[in-house]
Amino acid sequence: MKQIYLDNASTTPVRPEVLEAMIPYFSGEFGNPSSIYPLGQRASKAVSQAREDIAALIGAKPQEVFFTSGGSEADNWALKGYARANRKRGTHIITTAIEHHAILHSCEALEREGFQVTYLPVGSDGLVDPQEFESAIREDTILASVMFANNEIGTIEPIARLAQIAKSHGVAFHTDAVQAFAHVPIDVDELGVDMLSASAHKLNGPKGVGMLYVRKGIRLENLIDGGQQERGKRATTENVPGIVGFAKAAQLAFGELEGETARQRELRDHAIRRILTEIPHAKLNGSWESRLANNVNFSFEFIEGEGMLLHLAARGICVSSGSACTSGSLDPSHVLIAIGLPHEIAHGSLRMTLGRDTSLDDVDFAIDSLKATLENLRAMSPLYEDYRNGRYEGILDAWKAKGIAHISE
Ligand SMILES: *Cc1c(COP(=O)(O)O)cnc(C)c1O
Repeated sequence: MKQIYLDNASTTPVRPEVLEAMIPYFSGEFGNPSSIYPLGQRASKAVSQAREDIAALIGAKPQEVFFTSGGSEADNWALKGYARANRKRGTHIITTAIEHHAILHSCEALEREGFQVTYLPVGSDGLVDPQEFESAIREDTILASVMFANNEIGTIEPIARLAQIAKSHGVAFHTDAVQAFAHVPIDVDELGVDMLSASAHKLNGPKGVGMLYVRKGIRLENLIDGGQQERGKRATTENVPGIVGFAKAAQLAFGELEGETARQRELRDHAIRRILTEIPHAKLNGSWESRLANNVNFSFEFIEGEGMLLHLAARGICVSSGSACTSGSLDPSHVLIAIGLPHEIAHGSLRMTLGRDTSLDDVDFAIDSLKATLENLRAMSPLYEDYRNGRYEGILDAWKAKGIAHISE
């Protein structure tokens, strides 16, 4: 059976060119970058080159790029490392209700250490309001962290504006750019951010490697004490093949960014339009305008997400849902709740995220399958039966009557 992979926000396949660039560093060029003989120095050079290449892509200096084991580690380090090193200046942090758990759980850990955290709400489109952000800044605020683009609903936040507000109040600004990196142009000076997280496996690079950009002058507690790797702030022998693969993947993706995002945006809009016109009782989640080119996220009324995913999986379609049932929790996604969806609607959610390998045929096949799946599932739904018999007023029908946008015809 053909497999159609539409879960690129979760992870992506390593590109052949990336794998090829990595392979020598597993065996022939296996040296430790800290060794002084040529075998080690060649590995050291490969790491320096990768650091320079990634820095150049985002307008940073090589000394401002710190390699990590991935996006979660970069997020943890940015928040805990900054908060602990700057505690004397204040103990208040601002973030949002829709962050990745790497940020949210780091904030909760800091709260247990005595920090106070404001979790800003977002609008029904998933956007943070800059005015609300500014109002949340207090005398003792030292750090703000707002994600560049949301991993579930794809909403792109007004990062430059927020960073500028933070700066005018002397507050350091971090952004989790794991979903945005290589999907949206990024220049750290134009954005005005102080710290930025990225992860290779979200851009057709290897798993287990990422980075934290840290602007010169920003003080962070060391993450791992030990040797002199990463300027003594994160000891442990470098993941040389991973770092080389990350830089290669980033260079390729940044080089193709404009053409590839235009291609994906067209597929995305095709998918959104098809669902809005062909599948009743559906709502697009998140802003359509300020949205990653590869993200399609819908809620379907009278549908339970797990059943939908299992039916689609049986047809070879890899997608994910907005409910967290698979992770052993019955709570729907905190992001969908934060944009105001009631639980029963949030439970019937679907995320399709396109990638470099996604074709128009893939998208059409997935939507044809989705249509058939939803018809079958709704035919078995007692609530849908009640709706059809006029015994239940649909939530989405009521919203549509109130003029709420992007609900199917
Ligand atoms: C995937 C993801 C992470 C975690 O990255 P890992 O490299 O898997 O640790 C963090 N933030 C966002 C927004 C993500 O999408």
